[in-house]
Amino acid sequence: MRLHVADHPLIAHKLTALRDERTDSPTFRRLADELVTLLAYEATRDVRTEAVEVVTPVCATTGVRLSSPKPLVVPILRAGLGMLDGMVRLLPTAEVGFLGMIRDEETLLASTYANRLPEDLSGRQVYVLDPMLATGGTLVAAFEFLFERGADEITAICLLAAPEGVQVVRERFGDEANLTIVTGSLDERLNESGYIVPGLGDAGDRLYGVV
Ligand code: URA
Repeated sequence: MRLHVADHPLIAHKLTALRDERTDSPTFRRLADELVTLLAYEATRDVRTEAVEVVTPVCATTGVRLSSPKPLVVPILRAGLGMLDGMVRLLPTAEVGFLGMIRDEETLLASTYANRLPEDLSGRQVYVLDPMLATGGTLVAAFEFLFERGADEITAICLLAAPEGVQVVRERFGDEANLTIVTGSLDERLNESGYIVPGLGDAGDRLYGVV
């Protein structure tokens, strides 16, 4: 497993506004969207391409296009949905699947309640979207699900991550797994309720309001 903490002043600036408790939902959604596009730029550095011939007004040359099978983008419902537009803006030809994971707020254990994914993910590069890597339970369950279906390579994009969650993923998958986590910040710690500190609160509630 590889961890990539984005180091860019624009990302730090937007994350600071995102953390601010005074930021309202519309602004939060816009900032999350912009942040994902910036993080996606880092996360797709190794997206697979193939050579393609192109004729410019001057001459013929060789360029690249995304190779098949196309990358699969998987937002984890519900908060990951707030990251989808920002991701597909950068990867418009990617396919999109959905995974619904819910965290029991007492045990902090994650389980799958919905999935809309191809049965066979053999050879696929998968980009998982989840804003908060907190305890790691949700992402571990999601990664297990995707690897069991044959995913070849998984990159998770998280706005924030806690060291405890990164450690849980690392212990479960080891250094050999073809797995990368790209995050805008590695925060200090988790609190006793499983929230990231300093964090930004409940990402789903801040995106969509409390239901
Ligand atoms: N999920 C959130 O939305 N926020 C946290 O801080 C942790 C998990």
